[in-house]
Amino acid sequence: MRLKNLPSEFQEALPVLEKIKSAGYEAYFVGGSVRDALLNRPIHDVDIATSSYPQETKRIFERTVDIGIEHGTVLVLENGGEYEVTTFRTEDVYVDYRRPKSVSFVRSLEEDLKRRDFTVNAFALAEDAQIVDLFDGFSDLENQVLRAVGRADERFSEDALRIMRGLRFAASLNFTIETSTFAAMKIYAPLLEKISVERSFIEFDKLLTAPYWKKGLEALIQAKACDYLPDLQGKADKLATLLTDYADDFVFATSEQAWAALCLALKIKNCKAFLKKWKTSSHFQKMVTQLVAIYDHRLTAVHDKQTLYRYSKPLAELAENLRQAQGLTVDFDLIAQLDASLLIHHKKEIVVNGGDLMAQLGLRPGPALGQVLNQIEAAIVQGELANEREAILAFAESKIE
Ligand code: ATP
Ligand code: MG
Repeated sequence: MRLKNLPSEFQEALPVLEKIKSAGYEAYFVGGSVRDALLNRPIHDVDIATSSYPQETKRIFERTVDIGIEHGTVLVLENGGEYEVTTFRTEDVYVDYRRPKSVSFVRSLEEDLKRRDFTVNAFALAEDAQIVDLFDGFSDLENQVLRAVGRADERFSEDALRIMRGLRFAASLNFTIETSTFAAMKIYAPLLEKISVERSFIEFDKLLTAPYWKKGLEALIQAKACDYLPDLQGKADKLATLLTDYADDFVFATSEQAWAALCLALKIKNCKAFLKKWKTSSHFQKMVTQLVAIYDHRLTAVHDKQTLYRYSKPLAELAENLRQAQGLTVDFDLIAQLDASLLIHHKKEIVVNGGDLMAQLGLRPGPALGQVLNQIEAAIVQGELANEREAILAFAESKIE
């Protein structure tokens, strides 16, 4: 089959293919970009596979960066674009279920496509728009089926991350996982314990924030993959409440929101500790924890100026959004009104600081100073005190007395 129109992302990258070819090697576009082009989805990175070895690739182009020579990948800078050019390779020896012991570079496209994870990820696109489809990926695309390349059991036992990738693709593409592929996912799910937490997080996070996240999550639960992911052991039932509690067409707006919903569904007491097990950043942990706190607050109260100031409008809206998806009452107008009425949105906007109070009122550093500053902040947030120097100093003086 031939692509009718070569999308502009490929057109721009064509000179790279042509240069490799005129040096006497083979080169193709491969991976997710070809799949996405066939599905008329937006294309992100255009990856190139070639029969040239890394050192040969480097000799073809003026500007290259070694970003993964040992895996065969050279970054080529050409025409204002950046392209990962990777030598055809096979990965035959797996030692730790995570990464191949050694990659062998090969000159054959077929060998390279064979080691790819799913049939819809194993297309190659030539410069004349002809598509190489060795594993019947076209019919799988047509039928919206996710099928492992070759024997699913072998593929997942070689690299268990493929299980998470598969669940993620089901969620992002709205594909059904083919029966024997799914059966193998189930069998090899215990190997997920050997996968680095960071990589599992990336896939699980992509799954949760995908448009068809319920499809992916349901498959993840059925495959019992959760029993081998950080802090999810034995929590399938609680995890499944996400499927019933949220509207079917609801899509998480951010990762933070998705993980907050996850913490809520699992009734996690200490979100920070949970997210630490998933090796997330402390900023991420803080945002999710705050979202859960706002959500919990809203179970028994409505927002006021103080809570809105403390949590900020964007987080309050994300929490409200979770309520909406669960069919609970919401009040977005109140959030907007309260936010508009706030005289300050952050402590640092207060025109008087601790230094001013010490200089003007003779206060010394210590708890008393901190207390006065807190009272000033609360009064401004409440709208009882103007954010003006004279007014604040007078207010502070009255509090000291
Ligand atoms: P995305 O749209 O998320 O980038 P993608 O399919 O491009 O999806 P990448 O992680 O960018 O995924 O990988 C590019 C290609 O490399 C895949 O399409 C697949 O052919 C191959 N690939 C990536 N990871 C694996 C893996 N663990 N096992 C086998 N093949 C893989
Ligand atoms: Mg990609």
